[in-house]
Amino acid sequence: MRILVVEDEPDLAAAVAASLRHDGYAVDIAAGRADALERIAENDYDLISLDLSLPDGDGVDVCRSVTTGAGSPAALRPKIIMLTARDSIDDRIRGLDEGADDYLAKPFSLGELGARVRALLRRDTDTAGALLQRAGIELDAARHEVRYHGEPVELTAKEFALLRWFLLHPDEVHSAERLLEHVWDEHADPFTNTVRVTICNLRRKLATTGEAGQPIETLPGRGYRLRDAA
Ligand code: CA
Repeated sequence: MRILVVEDEPDLAAAVAASLRHDGYAVDIAAGRADALERIAENDYDLISLDLSLPDGDGVDVCRSVTTGAGSPAALRPKIIMLTARDSIDDRIRGLDEGADDYLAKPFSLGELGARVRALLRRDTDTAGALLQRAGIELDAARHEVRYHGEPVELTAKEFALLRWFLLHPDEVHSAERLLEHVWDEHADPFTNTVRVTICNLRRKLATTGEAGQPIETLPGRGYRLRDAA
């Protein structure tokens, strides 16, 4: 999952980004309104953490451009969590009216932001809390734990992020380009085989755990898909 942090206070932006990266997300930072709009036009974000008071304009503009942008049905557009000053109820109302999904008042705890982000990004409302289950895989996003047929699996942050993406989008075929867009940040080199290598390592770890078959299949010429192995 790829997140854009829009925040003009460098220390806060760095702390939020570090916390979200620690939770396994790919994170880019925008320091203002124009920077944010540019990145949103260029990249395919899953969530935007949006400070409403920006030096070069109003964060609500960013919110509006995302929610009313051409060809952005609600299910496909990024989720938006607004970060607002404690006393700015009017800002919150304006943001929610423009389609923001949630808000947090400053100062907030990074733990609470992480929980709100998980809640917004969780598609399958049947899964309780932060636990994602599919194809014999159990992924606990809050605890950073993965089990495959009951056996614990040790994953790197990127392997964990990639597996979570597959679990959140079951039955879909993911091209390497799409995975690069959503699981890696803007520092990823699109000309490397980083996606293939990470998939390969993830498969190796899942294959050596338990007796079950390989849950990630390759569809030649199209991409990768999580198999719902019985
Ligand atoms: Ca600000």
